[in-house]
Amino acid sequence: MTSPAPRPGILDISPYVGGRSTLSGMDRVIKLSSNEGALGPSPKAMAAYRAIAPEMHRYPDGHAGALRETLASLHGLHAEQIVCGAGSDELLQLLVRGYAGLGDEVVYSRYGFLVYPIAAMASGATPVVAEEADLTASVDNLLSVVTPRTRILFLANPNNPTGTYLPISEIKRLRDGLPEHVLLVLDAAYAEFVDRNDYSSGAELVDAYDNVVMTRTFSKIYAMGGLRLGWGYCPPAVAAVLNRVRGPFNVSSPALAAGQAAVEDKAYVELVRRHNSYWRDWFTEAVGRLGLTVVPSVGNFVLVRFPKEPGRNSAAADAFLRSKGIIVRPVASYGLDEYLRVTIGRDDEMQAVVQALMEFQGV
Ligand SMILES: *Cc1c(COP(=O)(O)O)cnc(C)c1O
Repeated sequence: MTSPAPRPGILDISPYVGGRSTLSGMDRVIKLSSNEGALGPSPKAMAAYRAIAPEMHRYPDGHAGALRETLASLHGLHAEQIVCGAGSDELLQLLVRGYAGLGDEVVYSRYGFLVYPIAAMASGATPVVAEEADLTASVDNLLSVVTPRTRILFLANPNNPTGTYLPISEIKRLRDGLPEHVLLVLDAAYAEFVDRNDYSSGAELVDAYDNVVMTRTFSKIYAMGGLRLGWGYCPPAVAAVLNRVRGPFNVSSPALAAGQAAVEDKAYVELVRRHNSYWRDWFTEAVGRLGLTVVPSVGNFVLVRFPKEPGRNSAAADAFLRSKGIIVRPVASYGLDEYLRVTIGRDDEMQAVVQALMEFQGV
């Protein structure tokens, strides 16, 4: 008897492990492990979600027409070049499915988002890693691993879990150094949080070139991760590919309705953005005063570095925080075992983390 076998390579994938959300024996926890958006979704998005309940027997608009028009006018883009997905994860996977298969290579950066190698391997392609410098993607290293077999280069900008970013001048240099057959995918999941004037999500590069795609998500600043909604801005030929490989109704009607209301609620997005900037700076400073190092972040999370000694290291800190009901994200699966990633949460949550870290550090 032989049982059905998956395609070669599938069982080599290490499944993605998300941030923990519960602690045994505790019914109230502070969850700062998945970058979910400190203040929750816009009340207008929640109202739109509730309002569509009586219509859930209807199939959604398979072209996400209204949402694409709204996104296009908000960002000054061409609606027909926007493709929506069930989270940006789906779009990343569809890009690999459309452009890379057995024998092809997919390049990403050492501490890049783990979905990239998973998506590559799920399509039979080979993930290829470029080393970073100072926990920041290196354009030279990325370009140096590109070969005639490279089909896609994934770059999260800003990156998760490091929180670092490349200025748009470096992204342009990366694009200019790539052969035309390589698709550059700029994953801008955290774009809305960045307040640096040398940063751009790269939408203008999508308009200017045939080989650049930008992806965005509703899971972070819009705090709608549970609903699964993301979008990509693509050259027309790439949009045509994604619209062929995606499911005909890949985005649900509640996601479309709530997403639309969320983008229209600009005041709320601005409130969340300011909250994040304030508490990210506050947390960075407070942790620095405890004698710990922090990787400067432009996202809604911060990597905190612990010494290597047993009892003082990141594993001990994680266990201590958990004993206080605080869940952060160990990032050993990224090869960053000296660090913990802390999502920026509400005011009281950030104060509680710093208080707990003070106790852990004995200061
Ligand atoms: C959270 C995240 C995403 C978004 O995932 P969704 O599928 O849209 O929830 C994409 N890229 C990076 C780097 C992320 O951290």
